[in-house]
Amino acid sequence: MRDAWIRTRRGAKAVLDASTAYGVAWEEEADARGALTPTGVLLLTNRECPFTCVMCDLWVNTLDERVPAGAVPGQIRQALAGLPRVRQVKLYNAGSFFDPGAIPPSDDPAIVEALAGIAHVIVESHPAFLAGVHGERCLRLRDALARAGATLEVAVGLETAHPDVLARLNKRMTLESFDEAAAFLTGNGMALRVFVLLQPPFLAAAESLTWA
Ligand code: SF4
Repeated sequence: MRDAWIRTRRGAKAVLDASTAYGVAWEEEADARGALTPTGVLLLTNRECPFTCVMCDLWVNTLDERVPAGAVPGQIRQALAGLPRVRQVKLYNAGSFFDPGAIPPSDDPAIVEALAGIAHVIVESHPAFLAGVHGERCLRLRDALARAGATLEVAVGLETAHPDVLARLNKRMTLESFDEAAAFLTGNGMALRVFVLLQPPFLAAAESLTWA
């Protein structure tokens, strides 16, 4: 019901091409040791995230259906070919990389191949896609990247540590499920990146900095 309430307030989606990333950028970002690292930011075109968070606008740049096999590796090859040399790559897909409805798992080997020469790869995922069979996929990707000489980092949108506000965001995650995902990633040799909303909805401005 809350999903429907949120969805009725949405406008139209952008028109996207499944063979092209909808956003590509080059930036320098500090690595874990503080050194500036040339980074490719790839906003992958793929199916909409199955969650319906109240504050999210990422659905605008998504498709209704899963992209065909081979589309995402093609997007990556095309995007990297147009960028100056990068050392690390962010593959952000407006959802969860390990959601099989978003990026076909059969594409993972070709994705690793498309990332040849990259030292560090960052993907994003909801905690629900870091457990069970999805967690196993994450470990397989970590291992395949390691064989190619790269490390894997996973970004998780915690959004806020305020338990009641987190529940009202309609993200269907809890502080406990975040903790489990964080333990899974760090316990398996992957870096964890966390997205936090500085001013989430439902939280008074005077309290937001403290909770962030
Ligand atoms: S899980 Fe992430 S991508 Fe999906 S609706 Fe929520 S904020 Fe948006």
